[in-house]
Order: sequence, then structure tokens, then C-alpha cells
Amino acid sequence: MTITAVMPTYARTDVVFERGEGAWLYAADGRRFLDFGAGIAVTALGHAHPHLVAALKVQAEKLWHTSNLYRIAGQEKLADRLVKNSFADTVFFCNSGAEAMECAIKTARRFHQAQGEKDKYRVITLRGAFHGRTLATIAAGGQEKHLEGFAPKVDGFDQVPFGNLNELRAVVGAQTAAIVVEPVQGEGGIIPADIEYMKGLRRVADEYGLLLIFDEVQCGLGRTGKLFAHEWSGVTPDIMALAKGLGGGFPVGACLASERAAKFMVPGTHGSTFGGNPLAMAAANAVLDVMLEPGFFDHVTEVADVLWPKLRALVAKYPKVFSEVRGKGLMIGLKSVPPNGDVVAKLFGQGLLTVVGGDNVVRLLPPLIIGDAEIDAAVAILDKVCAELSA
Ligand SMILES: *Cc1c(COP(=O)(O)O)cnc(C)c1O
Repeated sequence: MTITAVMPTYARTDVVFERGEGAWLYAADGRRFLDFGAGIAVTALGHAHPHLVAALKVQAEKLWHTSNLYRIAGQEKLADRLVKNSFADTVFFCNSGAEAMECAIKTARRFHQAQGEKDKYRVITLRGAFHGRTLATIAAGGQEKHLEGFAPKVDGFDQVPFGNLNELRAVVGAQTAAIVVEPVQGEGGIIPADIEYMKGLRRVADEYGLLLIFDEVQCGLGRTGKLFAHEWSGVTPDIMALAKGLGGGFPVGACLASERAAKFMVPGTHGSTFGGNPLAMAAANAVLDVMLEPGFFDHVTEVADVLWPKLRALVAKYPKVFSEVRGKGLMIGLKSVPPNGDVVAKLFGQGLLTVVGGDNVVRLLPPLIIGDAEIDAAVAILDKVCAELSA
């Protein structure tokens, strides 16, 4: 037997973390790391945030799980708060980003099919997109490396280039139900959709009676300096998927929708055994307690305004390593000149955790609670590694 007990679907870095505090992680072998990956944009409030720890402890001693056969107070509270702070009128809770996207796609199909449009099912997605690893969401993402060996590809997804409204219009047909977009593409390499493009997507959706779905699984929950990234554009979707930052590290996802879009999601149409259980809801409500405090998003923008000029200076100083810094707020992509995996490995060696992304990008996704000390430490490590790579 050569296969490992843990199914070897990941190329893991050889480190075991034992403990975390704020933006710092401590490995079992004594090494300390500055976490600018945040578990891929998940631990938005850092590790072991006292308010989250306390909320989970209290809930853990009371009740973990009851199923959705019964009302769940934490769900009602969290849904109310998400509704109050967004375009949405209603929320479905699940456990991951892919599940949130599955709910979004099902909601869009059902919207049309329940109104008699039985063959409206196709969804337009954008090149470079990532929506998860289920059979439907790998088809939505359309990336060959994710589809390879898992044929047949789930039918119903048409992919067009990011940023081009004419090509998007050209694929709208009688069977088109919806358009899906990440307001800032994450896995694709930190690519923000500009405001005019966002407005154009809304116009096309309205013109053809399509539902507009935003996948804010990575860019949502304060990452860009607003609760939701699409708020920068003033454009609202009909449906939106959330996950990553929502539980601050506890697995929880959500699909938000307007009343009109979700009108036919009636009892029996969708479900999840674990989705929105009391433990998950305690974590997510605790995250919102912190994020909805006055000044939280201002802090994200303020630290981003300190970090960005320093990153731009690195790009200028080390053109052989980085050619561009892009993104929004604390969702940052450094376009790498050497293979991004090599740069991420070197940064790891110096104690800074970052994440690779598409288009040869090194992603910086620090916890939103970082301050000057973390910025200075991260920039010092980046500078050192850039100098080594330039030599
Ligand atoms: C991570 C991600 C997903 C998938 O989330 P999982 O929790 O891994 O299923 C979907 N969409 C986007 C934009 C993501 O970044």
C-alpha cells in the first residue's frame, strides 16, 4: 500500500500548525509564520479571535445540531442581519462555497422553470472563474485541470471571456437562465471587474430576463473594504453566494436572493442536513458582530492604503520578480515574473504565508484585523525574498 491514509488530492507544504493568534501561526516544530493567506481568505478575523472563541464555547455547551426539521434561532438572526445589510430578502444556509453556488444555480433554474420555461437552464460563466469542485461547479468554472478525468461534464454552462460584453451577448439564447460573475476573480488571479462591466452585466441580464448571480465566496465579507465587493459598483445581483470569510474559519456558506428570484424555492425544493446548524450560526453571527461594528470596514481600507504603496514600491524596485499589484482592499494579487509557486515557497521559507493564484499571481489575503506591525513584517520578508530572487 503506497497511498496515504489521507487521500492525496493536495500538494501540501510540509508543515503542521498547532496554534494561531491573530495574524500569526505557530508550527509544531516551533517555527512562527505571518499568515497572509488566512486559510484562503477564510480567517478574516485572524486566529483565535476572543469574541469568536467565546461565542463558540458558549454555543458548544448548549447545542450543536438539531437539523432543519426545526426552527434554528441563530439562522433567523443571521439571515435577518444579512438581509438588512444587503440587496437580499432571503437566505439559504449551507456548508461551503460550492454548495452556496449549487443553491444559486438551482434557484436560477427554478425561477424560470417554475414559470413554465422548462428548457431555460443554461448559465453564462466567465473565463478564469472558480465556483467550487462539485460536478456542477467544475463545469461552471470550466477549467480543464478541474474537469480532467471527471467526464461527462455537467451540461448547461457557456463560458465567455472576462470583461467582454459583446461576446457575452452573443451567447445569450432561448435556454439562458443566468449569468454568474465573481466581482473580483479570486482563484483566477485577483482580477476585479470594473464598474462599467458590472453595470453592463446588469443591463444584459435585465434586457434578456436573466438572473444575475454574484459569487462573493472569496471577495465578500469585508475583504475589499466593504461588506460585499459589488457595493463598490452600486450594481446589485438577484442571487449571491457567500462562504469563506462568513464563519471566520468555521465551515458555513450562504445563498442570498431577492424575493423575486427565490419565489419558487418552496418547502422540499432544496435542503442540507448540516446547513446552518446552531454551532455554525454562532460562529457566523460572531463574525458579523465584529464586522458590523462601526469602523471595521474603514480599518480594512486604512490598512490597505498603507500596504498598497509599499507593494507598488516593491514592484518598482524588483521588476524581475513582480510586474504588477492588483485587486481591491486586502484582496491583493502580485503578478509574478518567476513561477508563482517558487515565490510562494521562498516566502514560506522566510515565514510569510501567501497563496498562488491563476495568471501566475501570488495572492495576499491577510486577516482583516492586521495593523502596521504585520504590514511592516510582511513587506520586510517580501523585500528580502525579492532581493534574493533578483540577484
Ligand atoms: C473558494 C471558492 C469557491 C468554493 O468554495 P468551497 O468552500 O471550497 O466549496 C467558490 N467560489 C469562489 C469565488 C471561491 O473563491
